[in-house]
Amino acid sequence: MKKALITGISGQDGAYLAQHLLKNGYKVFGGERRNASSTLWRLDALNILNDVEIIDFELAEFTNIMRAIEYSQPDEIYNLAAQSFVGASFDLPIMTSDVSGVGVARILECIRKINPNIRFYQASTSEMFGKVAEVPQSENTPFYPRSPYGVAKLFGHWMTINYREAYDIFACSGILFNHESPLRGHQFVTKKITIGLSRIKLGLQDKLELGNLDSKRDWGFAGDYVKGMHLMLNHSHSDDYVLSSNETYSVRDFIQAACDKLEFNLEWIGTGLEEKGINSKTGKEIITINKKFFRPTEVDLLHGDSSKARKVLNWTTETSFDDLVSMMIEFDLNSLKK
Ligand code: NDP
Ligand code: GDP
Repeated sequence: MKKALITGISGQDGAYLAQHLLKNGYKVFGGERRNASSTLWRLDALNILNDVEIIDFELAEFTNIMRAIEYSQPDEIYNLAAQSFVGASFDLPIMTSDVSGVGVARILECIRKINPNIRFYQASTSEMFGKVAEVPQSENTPFYPRSPYGVAKLFGHWMTINYREAYDIFACSGILFNHESPLRGHQFVTKKITIGLSRIKLGLQDKLELGNLDSKRDWGFAGDYVKGMHLMLNHSHSDDYVLSSNETYSVRDFIQAACDKLEFNLEWIGTGLEEKGINSKTGKEIITINKKFFRPTEVDLLHGDSSKARKVLNWTTETSFDDLVSMMIEFDLNSLKK
């Protein structure tokens, strides 16, 4: 039986990846950082809470990482743990660098010392492309990160490559474009929109406050993307791969799709910070713009080219943009009704 250690088990991808590896017969250790209260509701939602062995895991603490690897003796480590929210990274640049950047070096150094045969997956990100040099973005596109999060992740990306080249460690960096699901963290724009509009639909809230509606993202479903992580570590050689849907939509498009599902008749009036989204059926304002949700430096356009992963790994996406929005709305409406 293969053994995997997933760091960041309490996060969105941790839950979907654990589910996928369990289905493939793995023994799964889930690394969770010490918390005053448990944050494992996502494993519960997928009904796998009792199937994963939870162990202490703190990316900021080298000795803790060492103990986690010595105890679990994994064949594969998936490093999904990170301070993962771009917006927060502007307020927490040093912590983000330490956890999301230097933390990667801590794990790689433990692998080198404890067992260099462990295969390693690093959760890199399209945020590393930042102010994009070309459209679409592939493994060959130059990087230009636009946030402390993007900078920290770029450090982790290059560390992963360096340990592969210097010590022959089977280390892969997955450059993943945004991927969402009903289990997405509530700060991220997709989830904020689906939960906010669902609450408005049920009369639980009046308005939803957002920032920049014109940035574009290449959004996919997390359940499809974790399969790509597994394929990377089970390929004949280690490499770096972009995973993306290869389609791009604006935040405004996402709002429109969510409003269509909820049967709101959305109309936009005004411009800039004065822009408002009105439900023309009722005349009520449902979307308003708040300056505090804008970032000091923005990533305007992400549009991936995942042809390498599709060709070499035979990776594919099964969930369309429309399916994704429907899935999220349905989940939020049902949860709120309960
Ligand atoms: P989440 O924010 O849902 O999960 C992040 C996980 O990291 C949580 O389990 C969190 O624990 C844990 N964590 C945070 N700080 C530490 C720490 N100091 N030590 C140990 N664990 C820590 O992210 P996702 O699941 O969405 O993403 C998984 C990974 O993929 C992340 O690294 C993210 O940056 C990266 N990524 C995600 C993309 C996406 O669109 N989802 C796109 C590209 C990359 P806690 O619950 O306690 O906060
Ligand atoms: P990111 O691509 O990792 O930063 O994912 P997010 O979901 O946090 O943000 C995606 C895009 O939505 C970014 O361009 C944000 O500026 C934009 N956005 C607009 N309004 C909001 C908001 O209220 N919250 C968040 N999180 N993002 C917003």
